[in-house]
Amino acid sequence: MAKTTKKCSFCGRPESQVGFFIMGMEGAHICDECAVQASDIVKENTLSKSKLPNLNKEQLPKPIEIKEYLDEYVIGQDEAKKFLSVAVYNHYKRLMQEKTSDDVEIEKSNIIMVGYTGTGKTLLARTIAKKLHVPFAIVDATVLTEAGYVGEDIESILTRLLQVADYDVKAAERGIVFIDEIDKIARKGDNPSITRDVSGEGVQQGLLKLLEGAIVNVPPQGGRKHPDQKMIAVNTQNILFVCGGAFDGIEKKIASRLNTRVVGYNAAKGTEQLDKHNMLQYIAPQDLKSFGLIPEIIGRLPILTYLEPLDRTALRRILTEPKNSIIKQYTKLFKMDDIDLTFAEEVLEYIVDKAIEFKLGARGLRSITETIMMDEMFEMPSRNVKELTVSLTYAQSKLEKANIHRLKTA
Ligand code: ADP
Repeated sequence: MAKTTKKCSFCGRPESQVGFFIMGMEGAHICDECAVQASDIVKENTLSKSKLPNLNKEQLPKPIEIKEYLDEYVIGQDEAKKFLSVAVYNHYKRLMQEKTSDDVEIEKSNIIMVGYTGTGKTLLARTIAKKLHVPFAIVDATVLTEAGYVGEDIESILTRLLQVADYDVKAAERGIVFIDEIDKIARKGDNPSITRDVSGEGVQQGLLKLLEGAIVNVPPQGGRKHPDQKMIAVNTQNILFVCGGAFDGIEKKIASRLNTRVVGYNAAKGTEQLDKHNMLQYIAPQDLKSFGLIPEIIGRLPILTYLEPLDRTALRRILTEPKNSIIKQYTKLFKMDDIDLTFAEEVLEYIVDKAIEFKLGARGLRSITETIMMDEMFEMPSRNVKELTVSLTYAQSKLEKANIHRLKTA
């Protein structure tokens, strides 16, 4: 009997012309190329069917409800919470607006938050997204560069969102994107530069397109676009952009604006009332412009709010009060080994003191606690102990032995 050559049951090519075959039932085969194509078709079909339930007004949490939810996870920052709650509420209300003939179109309320690093900007945005059950992506503005330069294309911002939405385009189109370190793409100086500013104005121009609400072709795997890649079209019209940045040194711009304004008429009285330790509270859009954001970008981020620096009291609260505070997380971890973990009050004070001393802010609370607890986490599960109280002398001995420099870069 003549030997039959294996052929792909889809494209008909023989084994010699393909990479390899995957065998099916009753002599059926599929070649590697047809398998890839089939996978693409499946992906495309699932993409068009969104799994996202329709939002409706009854389910949409009211601003006070959103703020109360934020209070469970984020300490302080009342002003930012209020601004965010209202902006987010309006944003999703806008999404639900029915087409009417009154011509009143509610515009998008993208947000910009200014505040020192580690004060809760990302945490706020992440917590809101959790409350609303919408896809949420965090991107770092520092990796973005103008098309044609080394770095990531602006569109890759949306790749992250698509990935967290499991490539459900409809869901991604109502998601929230947090763009961190937006201040790093400020142009250097207030004057438009004639030389090329790869990581500054060019990126801002690119970003503008996304913020304005356009249909953008997104590379599904991110990185740089290349000609053979299949793009996914994403409409950014209803995506809420929340930007955050520390804007180091912006206090000076705020102060100089306020000083100029209060010179002369009632000057002494005007400056007297300023709280010099927290100048961010007076931030206005023109300060962002002085810092180097282009007016078009500022115009697309109409909600401007600030975060307070975290003082000792706030850090102490962060340690134990949020719903998933660091201390609650450790207690739970030990409980899973049937160990009741408690911290002496002085230990908590000590952790806060060290975070302040090393200038680590809220992020440092975790690394310090981790250092103190490392040996116990290593040994306790193998010992037959039911209780553990962390004392001040124990905490001090562990932290003193640790390499403080490691903590500082944590
Ligand atoms: P930012 O985005 O402002 O740089 P993050 O939101 O990433 O700061 O904060 C870093 C971490 O510090 C958070 O994950 C959280 O554990 C803690 N943290 C910071 N600020 C707060 C806050 N106001 N309330 C509770 N935890 C906070």
